[in-house]
Amino acid sequence: MSECLFCKILNNEIPSNRVYEDDYVYAFEDINPLAKEHYLFISKNHSENFNDLSSDDLVHIHQAIKKFTSGTKLETDGYRVVTNINSFGGQTVFHTHFHVLGGEQLKGFGV
Ligand code: 5GP
Ligand code: ZN
Repeated sequence: MSECLFCKILNNEIPSNRVYEDDYVYAFEDINPLAKEHYLFISKNHSENFNDLSSDDLVHIHQAIKKFTSGTKLETDGYRVVTNINSFGGQTVFHTHFHVLGGEQLKGFGV
């Protein structure tokens, strides 16, 4: 979609710091990191959010995150995967993305 920020990143119209890429998925550093490591995993197919994401693309993103973290401190120490959905979920960019946060101890939801 031409007006979508993350489609523009995929098309190299907006620069990003790529950390992972395969045929289906692209991942890059979040511009406003909320943890020492904060990456965004997106499908190369545009979809609005989790509700609109195909099951195939969900699988591709899952596989990409596992490949990316495999053998790293993220895998051994742990990390968090978050996807925000619509207004109450705090979604601000309407191209489905999964935040991968780690590199430090994150606060639990009960803290
Ligand atoms: P949301 O709030 O929709 O779950 O997450 C959107 C994320 O995109 C935010 O964490 C925000 O910092 C990030 N973001 C917004 N614009 C850009 C950009 O132009 N480049 C990068 N790398 N990240 C962005
Ligand atoms: Zn898009």
